[in-house]
Amino acid sequence: MKVVLQNLTKRFPSRTKNEPDVIAVNDFNFEIPDGKLIGLLGPSGCGKSTTLNLISGLEAPTSGKIFFGEDDVTRLPPENRGVGLVFQNYALYPHLTVLDNILFPLQNLKGPEKLSKQEMRERALHAAKLVQIDTLLERKPSELSGGQQQRVAIARALVKTPRVLLMDEPLSNLDARLRLQTREEIRRIQQETGVTTIFVTHDQDEAMSISDMIVVMKDGVVQQIGAPQDVYDNPVNLFVATFLGTPPINVFDGEIKGEKLYIGGEAVLPKPGLPDQKVSVGIRPEGFVLDENGPFTLNLSRVEVMGRDTSVVSTHPKSRNVTIRSIIPTRNKVDRTAKTVRFSLVPDKVHLFDEKTDKALGTEEKP
Ligand code: ADP
Ligand code: MG
Repeated sequence: MKVVLQNLTKRFPSRTKNEPDVIAVNDFNFEIPDGKLIGLLGPSGCGKSTTLNLISGLEAPTSGKIFFGEDDVTRLPPENRGVGLVFQNYALYPHLTVLDNILFPLQNLKGPEKLSKQEMRERALHAAKLVQIDTLLERKPSELSGGQQQRVAIARALVKTPRVLLMDEPLSNLDARLRLQTREEIRRIQQETGVTTIFVTHDQDEAMSISDMIVVMKDGVVQQIGAPQDVYDNPVNLFVATFLGTPPINVFDGEIKGEKLYIGGEAVLPKPGLPDQKVSVGIRPEGFVLDENGPFTLNLSRVEVMGRDTSVVSTHPKSRNVTIRSIIPTRNKVDRTAKTVRFSLVPDKVHLFDEKTDKALGTEEKP
């Protein structure tokens, strides 16, 4: 089911005179294609949950419209929208067994939707199999691990075959290993069911790894929408560039002078066609190539070998981060006793931003 958000805005009025209203979602426009998994991504407080609550109907928008396919659902109550919801804290009924938790949403169906006991059981078993908890049906939630509880919550959200599945930070309560495993599971389940899914997270790694498309938000405003790799490769502004990527992009104060990019006194890259100006420079950790004759000199702090890759930690007077991280193949040996380390730069991995607006520069040099 395609989901369309049209000029969607949510304003929470302030409770006191001194505080301004909060615009949690500001003029959100997006058409979510049928059957895709969309990662809604941004720092805490940027309006992710509010967006999801508007789509589910738990909150009413201040203005704007929501469509599921051709249906305008903006004024429809949540129970009539056909959405499945999964939250961070599972929200299972503690006194019910796994099976009864999954059956619960089916027991309140009325009229033509009403199911026989047999049909309900079949549907619940199907959902339990899908999330691989069909051997635990008689347990209570307290007898399950966090990951298993979240599977039950997902099965419960899927049992009514929702038109849209909405997940709000579903993995945040799980430990690191389980988080990795469960996100793969969510991807598998989404692909098996083909249900249009919106997955909210503040974890860029999580969103990048399982989404068909990501939406990056900041302060209620959508910054960029696209396939994860496209957004990573072509960030529209400095915020998106710094929010995506681990280790994060390294940011420097730079300057274009005579069609060259300078960082400090060194001309680190040719930049034909760009007028002289001050710029913010973002260099991805993988954009540094160890090169004893390279144009960019960094002060070497330490070298961390991490198996296949090596992380070179350094400093530079023009760096906005305390330390700079470059990732190079471990077979390229760094002289650990040296005070400095020299690199050449991979042009695609160097991003320039307007010093004042933080907007990406240099789109004019692309074909
Ligand atoms: P996120 O899920 O990205 O962390 P939220 O959507 O929960 O962000 O919140 C976005 C902004 O809206 C925050 O500034 C938050 O304080 C505010 N907000 C959320 N819910 C309410 C509410 N019911 N009343 C007032 N302000 C709210
Ligand atoms: Mg939230």
